[in-house]
Amino acid sequence: MNAQHADALQSFMEEIERRNPGEPEFAQAVHEVAMDIVPYIADKPVYQELKILERMAEPDRIVTFRVVWENDHGEICVNRGFRVQQNNAIGPYKGGIRFHPSVNQSVLKFLAFEQVFKNSLTGLPMGGGKGGADFDPKGKSEREIMRFCQAFMTELYKHIGPNTDVPAGDIGVGGREVGYMFGQYKRIVNRFEGVLTGKSLEFGGSRIRAEATGYGAVYMMEEMLSHHKESIEGKTCLLSGAGNVATYCAEKLIGMGGKVVTMSDSGGFIHDPGGLTHEKLQWIMELKNRRRGRIEEYAREFSGATFHADERPWKVPCDLAFPCATQNEITADDARQLVENGCRGISEGANMPATTEAIRVIQGAKNVLHAPGKAANAGGVAVSGLEMSQNSLRLQWSRAEVDQHLRSIIRGIHDQCVEFGTAADGHVDYFKGANIAGFNKVAAAMIAYGVM
Ligand code: GLU
Repeated sequence: MNAQHADALQSFMEEIERRNPGEPEFAQAVHEVAMDIVPYIADKPVYQELKILERMAEPDRIVTFRVVWENDHGEICVNRGFRVQQNNAIGPYKGGIRFHPSVNQSVLKFLAFEQVFKNSLTGLPMGGGKGGADFDPKGKSEREIMRFCQAFMTELYKHIGPNTDVPAGDIGVGGREVGYMFGQYKRIVNRFEGVLTGKSLEFGGSRIRAEATGYGAVYMMEEMLSHHKESIEGKTCLLSGAGNVATYCAEKLIGMGGKVVTMSDSGGFIHDPGGLTHEKLQWIMELKNRRRGRIEEYAREFSGATFHADERPWKVPCDLAFPCATQNEITADDARQLVENGCRGISEGANMPATTEAIRVIQGAKNVLHAPGKAANAGGVAVSGLEMSQNSLRLQWSRAEVDQHLRSIIRGIHDQCVEFGTAADGHVDYFKGANIAGFNKVAAAMIAYGVM
């Protein structure tokens, strides 16, 4: 970056920080995009005159609301709910709902901002949004989860709709929660319509939606490797997380001949040097989805495996890494370890899993293929977009049909990254490619609408 672009970036970011005090995650996400977009628009005065990037960094609106519910002991609990409607230039707001104690306005603004670029990359007509609550589902009973979801939707329904804003799941929100929320929406508005995605197959869900984020992260890795005449087969893979994204990422990797040696949860990670099998993975899914247990139990169940409390897997030697847990789970030190150990590829199943310093370390190494979350985990929202299409058609497609769409959407994202991210020496900067391609489409729509 030349000095003039660096100055422009600095003053842009100073303004972002001044306008959004105390929101470090949001500033981090905007910075990651602005690093590529500020130089890109430097010789394109129309984007600057119309303040396109400045407008993209300001949410269309944020709804904040009180969620009151009663726990199993008859106590009244108060949580805070949010919906950040970031940008609807290319389609209805679209993005998940997160239930986690770490949820606050900064986290949801970062996720909503990312979602705008991610959704644009899919090629489907979806704007960007995100929502959630600082509710901790851990240790809650089935009925408490239900009451919370119903209380949350009793306010949220006013702000969403199949052509307005279509939420889905994210951390802490899976098929069960989507079912409770969809049921409550339907009951209040007395209409059966595609207002949420990630629904069960019986009431308008799409095949492959549960698998899509994990599968997509693997398809993205496969595209990056095959672009460089390599493949997944025989490669040792590190995964973090043990939720929906990580488990289906592992399933696809095992199916493609990859050797998955780690998974994790908030208590630590398990290392199984022999590699996970489909049977072991099935055991993890049962543990997490039904028994709702801790990953450390895996090391007691399967000999040869070890549990590492309060640690993340990144120091284990690997060929490929798939961070599928949460934001900022790869620090600069972790990144150095990955690079030193010869890691060849990173595909981000989570949103913004690497810190800014970690990205710099990885990019500095030059020989790591690194797909950002907005490209690598776009498979989930892509199949959500296909769920919306199926709901509009009042049809349900086969597994093969949805998977074929998913593969071609990810291939399309890879091609856009190559188109906008390839340097003169042939090196592909997937962050730059994803940022510019995602920006272009939204910017074109915003310009067409004039000043608003
Ligand atoms: N929460 C997922 C994401 O981060 C999926 C969103 C959706 O399906 O709308 O992209």
